[in-house]
Amino acid sequence: MKLSNKVALVTGGLKGIGRATVMELATQGADIALNYRASEKNKVLAEELVKELKDLGRDVLCVEGDISHEEDVEKIFKSIKKYFGHLDILVNNAGLQQDASFIDMTLAQWQKVIDVNLTGQFLCSREAIREFLKRGMNDKSKALGKIINISSVHETIPWAGHANYASSKGALRMLMQTLAQEYGKQKIRVNNICPGAIQTPINKPAWDNKESLDALMTLIPYDRIGQPEDI
Ligand code: NAD
Repeated sequence: MKLSNKVALVTGGLKGIGRATVMELATQGADIALNYRASEKNKVLAEELVKELKDLGRDVLCVEGDISHEEDVEKIFKSIKKYFGHLDILVNNAGLQQDASFIDMTLAQWQKVIDVNLTGQFLCSREAIREFLKRGMNDKSKALGKIINISSVHETIPWAGHANYASSKGALRMLMQTLAQEYGKQKIRVNNICPGAIQTPINKPAWDNKESLDALMTLIPYDRIGQPEDI
């Protein structure tokens, strides 16, 4: 229960790595601000997850919104402030892929991935840091606040056929390092977690048939593909 009385916002927290992160943070005692994009399907998934979290004894606030839209992000942080009064941890998890060979990649595919995987992390981090600085230090933590970006091994490893995704994660590495340098003195901690292949909806074509999975396994130095709970 290391995170008792702490509030964590997880973006894209309904599925995959985001959901596993929500469950682990809650298991460690954190109350959760759960972000997801508004849809009927997501509403049902959110209700199920909220019930699981409440059964664990945690408080939960659902904060719908698209993290690549500035107005949505501002609304998300205002709701958190109003409901919880503060935020301790931001997990920038929401992300997507729109794959194409470079010469066939449309501007829309390029822009969408940069908007969600990089601009979204910028918008959420900016609001979180503003909130951490306003609140000031307290005796609950050695840090003023924490930001954890779910980046990727592709922040350093090139990825042919995924120029938009690899570029977004490479830039996310530089964003993390720059924010750590800029706000480290004020005790704001910023880290990236860089998973290899994890079996989630984002990369279904890479594991949902034997041929693809066999090809993927040649790149993984273990005897299995990673699971969201590993992260
Ligand atoms: P996922 O598709 O299960 O989860 C991504 C979540 O982000 C989804 O719930 C989706 O609805 C949400 N999302 C997408 N755009 C959004 C937006 N604009 N606003 C709010 N939410 C949005 O995939 P995942 O594998 O769990 O991905 C989570 C993170 O992990 C991503 O940033 C991804 O790049 C990263 N990652 C995944 C792998 C992998 O192999 N699965 C490896 C390295 C890094």
